[in-house]
Amino acid sequence: MSSDDTRVWSGMQTIAEREAPILAPYAMHSVDSKGREHDEQEHRYRGPYQRDRDRVLHSTAYRRLSYKTQVFTGEMGDYHRTRLTHTMEVASIARTIGRALRLNEDLVEALALLHDIGHPPYGHAGEDTLDECLSDAGGFSHNEFAMSLVRHLEVRFHEFPGLNLTQEVLESQQYRIDKSSPAAAPLLETQVVDAADSITYDAHDTDDAVALRLVPLDELLQNQLISEADRRVRRSSSALDAEARRRAIVHEMINWQVSDALRESVKSLQAAAPADAQDARKCGISIGPGSELAEMKRELESFLFERVYRHHDVIRVRGVAQQQLREMYAGFVDRSDLLPQKFQDRAESVGLPRAVGEYLAGMTDRFCGQQFERYFTVPSTGGFSAGGQLLE
Ligand code: MG
Repeated sequence: MSSDDTRVWSGMQTIAEREAPILAPYAMHSVDSKGREHDEQEHRYRGPYQRDRDRVLHSTAYRRLSYKTQVFTGEMGDYHRTRLTHTMEVASIARTIGRALRLNEDLVEALALLHDIGHPPYGHAGEDTLDECLSDAGGFSHNEFAMSLVRHLEVRFHEFPGLNLTQEVLESQQYRIDKSSPAAAPLLETQVVDAADSITYDAHDTDDAVALRLVPLDELLQNQLISEADRRVRRSSSALDAEARRRAIVHEMINWQVSDALRESVKSLQAAAPADAQDARKCGISIGPGSELAEMKRELESFLFERVYRHHDVIRVRGVAQQQLREMYAGFVDRSDLLPQKFQDRAESVGLPRAVGEYLAGMTDRFCGQQFERYFTVPSTGGFSAGGQLLE
């Protein structure tokens, strides 16, 4: 290193110096990180959670979220959220909450970008189908698959498999896999992302459902949360057309929920005054809505479940996707030689059913449809029949 270089780097603040005046004592400070699964040298000017965020952002699985279903598939239009835009909205809302609470924003962002990368094609329809296909091999969950992606399947470094994320990010993902038996409560940064996820999908599923004309706004207004948001909107602006009213209600839903989560969290943080991030885990601090808003959210979510997620247009697409995935699973198990070499190798360590499930889970909706067309529906190119047999 030249003497010029030495002067430049030694004149810069360390990550710990940069975080100390900004973060609250109960935030997860980078300097207290337990490190990575495989030892690596620290970066000169990027903190460990910044690097985690960047590793997720540059991963193949993250990019594929752009062609994965959140709730509504591509054939239903191009207004609604994809899994990627949902993730970006979650990250934005989570950063707002994290910054206001003086938590580690880099860690919050890393967790937010990671939180849905394990989703298979076709949203929950895809997940349910893979779980059914793998029922004799331990089932399938998108949270477990996210862990497999970041620890084993992503190819980024030649020294070790996966993304080699910090222990804090892996522990957070472990918590998502089994919330019922965590060794300790999750870090506050993990809770922020969970709260932001719920705020985000309640707001954007309402927006998408009305914009796609699956449910009229008048019917949604029967829910207390929506009618209260509408009342707040009308206090400041009275003469709005239908579209402007929908947008204003969705904006108010987010603003109200974020403010409520902050108010509740600050109250509980002030009362407990945790000394550090580990102390905060033992204090029973919960970041999320107050009881009144939590009840309204439950009412809205059961409405969305019945009237939107089970809408006949959504159910019809769901049925087609499930049948397609079932046939592809059976077909690739039968003809494992058609799997990419990476998954043939993977079958050696996790068994063929899991390897096929992982191959399918990693696909975008678009690629999954293309593979189905290629192997299952075009006899002249040598595909499978509907029963999973190779067509000659
Ligand atoms: Mg999500």
